[in-house]
Amino acid sequence: MRLILLGPPGAGKGTQAQRLIHKYNIVQLSTGEMLRAAVAAQTPVGLQAGEIMAGGGLVPDEIVIGIISDRLDQPDMKNGFILDGFPRTVPQAEALDHLLRKKHIRLDAVIELRVNESALLSRVETRVAEMRARGEEVRIDDTPEVLSNRLASYRSLTEPLIHYYSERRKLLTVDGMMPIEHVTHEINRILAAIGAVEARATRKPAKKAARKPPRPAVKTAKVAKKASRKPAKTARKAGKATSGRTGKAARGPAKGSGKRPAKRGGKAAKKVTKKRAKARGRLTKRS
Ligand code: AMP
Repeated sequence: MRLILLGPPGAGKGTQAQRLIHKYNIVQLSTGEMLRAAVAAQTPVGLQAGEIMAGGGLVPDEIVIGIISDRLDQPDMKNGFILDGFPRTVPQAEALDHLLRKKHIRLDAVIELRVNESALLSRVETRVAEMRARGEEVRIDDTPEVLSNRLASYRSLTEPLIHYYSERRKLLTVDGMMPIEHVTHEINRILAAIGAVEARATRKPAKKAARKPPRPAVKTAKVAKKASRKPAKTARKAGKATSGRTGKAARGPAKGSGKRPAKRGGKAAKKVTKKRAKARGRLTKRS
């Protein structure tokens, strides 16, 4: 499973990413975490990034793109990953598209955690006050002042990605203001609805099917016509999941779920069995 988590700072991306990596045995790629580690280790990247991060600004593209590109080549990526904090701008998203194409990696979905900004500020204020009261160290860029900068930067630079991925039919929007458990449940539900959860399990049988002789063109056309008349249940459900976001965004990823063949209903199955019995009867009569 390969995902991007999108949302302003404080939306709960880190918390949800942690849950997703455990559930699906995938790796979290947080550029913020990687950069903080580089700053702590005083590597050349860290020295370059430290001051920018302290002010809530964005580290240059070539640094973050380089970090992500190297990381995608590591063997622990084979089960999938969740990108948190990257891409943060349209040029970064374009660079990521290019990287994924080059590395033959397919992105399953982009999950947007939609939150209310003023509620975010008070969330952070409370969290910082609680941490200080417990005597814990507060991240230098986690103060309400720096958060305001980071929110402004999110609005102008990162928010356009919602349109970017919606146009590419990758976007799924979840209400990030719900309690953490509900957000997690909703994310899992829509991932199942778009078929991302079974993506690995279904990859092998798909290869086998490709070896079968192709079906007659007429039959295929009939199936396609039927499918377009009656969308799969899961697709409709996935549409619902994109709370507040309908139309293209909701329909986009749900389309993937339509790829799964609809279960043959009771009537259809009976018809087939009857036909087969008839044919068997004819064969025995003849012999
Ligand atoms: P985060 O933990 O994702 O909030 O990131 C913390 C800080 O790291 C940000 O405020 C930026 O200074 C820097 N950073 C993280 N990801 C990126 C990125 N994709 N592009 C540029 N700067 C980033």
